[in-house]
Amino acid sequence: MAQCYFCEKNERESYLGGYYCSSCKKLQRILKLYGDDVYKTTDLVFIRNTKQQGYKIDTIKHNIKIDEQDENKDKDGYNLRNKRT
Ligand SMILES: [Zn+2]
Repeated sequence: MAQCYFCEKNERESYLGGYYCSSCKKLQRILKLYGDDVYKTTDLVFIRNTKQQGYKIDTIKHNIKIDEQDENKDKDGYNLRNKRT
């Protein structure tokens, strides 16, 4: 079976008349239904500007710091926090 033209990952829905997989076909239907709002929503939800990336980096650094503190507490034999997975 051939690959989807859009995601280039999944198999196409069908040989005849179908260029997209079922997931991308669904996206196509959503795009037809909602129009340009889909692009605006995608930008708002998935695209991060430099300032927002900074917030995310700070959060990750904070979590790493907490994990390191937890590991140090484990070495001392006490820890009341649940470990993150
Ligand atoms: Zn696809």
